[in-house]
Amino acid sequence: MRPRARHPEKEIEKALRDAEVDGAVIEVRGKKGHAWGRMNCGRGGQHECRLRIWSTPGNPYAHARDIRALMRKCPHVGPEPELARTDAPVKEVSNER
Ligand SMILES: [Zn+2]
Repeated sequence: MRPRARHPEKEIEKALRDAEVDGAVIEVRGKKGHAWGRMNCGRGGQHECRLRIWSTPGNPYAHARDIRALMRKCPHVGPEPELARTDAPVKEVSNER
């Protein structure tokens, strides 16, 4: 595999690498515009979590935090996330004799 281009901001690059370890897919775009690229969680198929990566964000630390937050909040962890939901209707107890 071709190595990914590095992000110019050290903090962001670090966050991207951690995300990649967790399975994130990072796509680096060309030099057009101010988006450096984008990432997705790599786990959700069509409904995966996505984030645009800026090349020169005003606050690189905040942007790195966004990247980490995306992976942390990603609901696509585990094989069957639906099973974890507990919204089954509660059975009513009747007092009939
Ligand atoms: Zn996700």
